[in-house]
Amino acid sequence: MYIFDLQLTNYRNYVRTDVRLEKGLNLFIGENAQGKSNLLEAIYLLSTLRSSRASTDADLVRRDIIPSDFPVARLSCEVERSAGNLALELAIVGRTTDASHRAGKRVRVNGVPKKASDAVGQLCAVLFTTLDIEIVAGPPLMRRRYLDMMISQVDRGYLRAMQKYAKVLQQRNSLLKRIQSREASSQELNFWDQELAHAGGIIFWARADALGHIVPQAQQQMERLSDGLEDLQLTYRPSLGGLDATDSPIDDSEWTARMLKALQNLRPREIGAGATLVGPHRDDVLIEIDGMAADAFASRAQQRTAALSMRLAEASYLRRALGDDPVVLLDDVLSELDARRRRGVLEYIDTFQQTLVTTADPDRLRDIMTRAAGRFVVSAGTLTRFEGE
Ligand code: ATP
Ligand code: MG
Repeated sequence: MYIFDLQLTNYRNYVRTDVRLEKGLNLFIGENAQGKSNLLEAIYLLSTLRSSRASTDADLVRRDIIPSDFPVARLSCEVERSAGNLALELAIVGRTTDASHRAGKRVRVNGVPKKASDAVGQLCAVLFTTLDIEIVAGPPLMRRRYLDMMISQVDRGYLRAMQKYAKVLQQRNSLLKRIQSREASSQELNFWDQELAHAGGIIFWARADALGHIVPQAQQQMERLSDGLEDLQLTYRPSLGGLDATDSPIDDSEWTARMLKALQNLRPREIGAGATLVGPHRDDVLIEIDGMAADAFASRAQQRTAALSMRLAEASYLRRALGDDPVVLLDDVLSELDARRRRGVLEYIDTFQQTLVTTADPDRLRDIMTRAAGRFVVSAGTLTRFEGE
């Protein structure tokens, strides 16, 4: 798929922009703090309906209009897909003084209002940023987020299970605290255990399944980018309180059964802790380079290459699940790579229908500049197309 038109109104530092994008490579050049990351974030937001940077909805609305009665950012795009063309509109309403307007997000798909969870993944994108190194070097949350953002774009059932799981987890945790202080009976846990393990089974299964595709892909990319010098291993570490050491379950109901067993085993400890100690909310993925844990032992460059390989594998996963190409977004990442790795990334990215690349340092990307189908200068929230060098 590819985006051929993008409009931003009162979004971050964009007052009003309407830009026609090209199929193939689109290059965005601009100095620092001009709106390059904001632009790619906008596309990722249209795709996942979640910001790629931790922020509240109000942060996305242009600051100058926040004091107005109805501060709203509007993002829309038109996309050509193999599943049929798409017009996607997103309105983000900031805090309002008028009680008849609710703050939050509203989405329309081809003109029809949709729940956010039904609009996720209509536009499919993969975003590479310089913060991706955190997938490898950061806490388990970063690896869970990597999986969640990827899978929920192509699996609506996963997104629903995630939402259900979060709700049940909260209720179960507060019940555990009430049992701890003898305000409730542990019998009440049976119902919540079932609910949690049911949603949990769907999540475990989808993560294991996604990693089944990701692992060989990421390995292959790492090998390519490092000239066969570095070996990458990814191993799913589902949180099942020690029941995870054996073979992997073959479907979601087996995962559910295993989680129920773990919950039973841990019941006294969970009541003592007043918290749920196993389940997908505690999962991790072990990342090893040349047989050593990458967070503790790998160099920064190795960590960066591993993260890059995982993003390239994500693009491949989305393409397979979708039967169409995701839009590839590269925010500043090419300029931090050496020439060989850059070539390695571009070689693979070229097989996708559309790529958007940002840089503050066009001199380092001369080779790309000449090949780009669309070239734009980003300056203070405006986009200007330019031809030539
Ligand atoms: P860099 O090269 O440093 O990565 P960039 O071009 O990617 O820069 P962005 O991250 O897109 O820059 O940010 C551009 C500007 O947008 C920043 O100066 C920031 O203060 C501004 N900005 C962010 N959110 C808002 C908002 N809600 N309203 C107005 N301006 C905003
Ligand atoms: Mg930036």
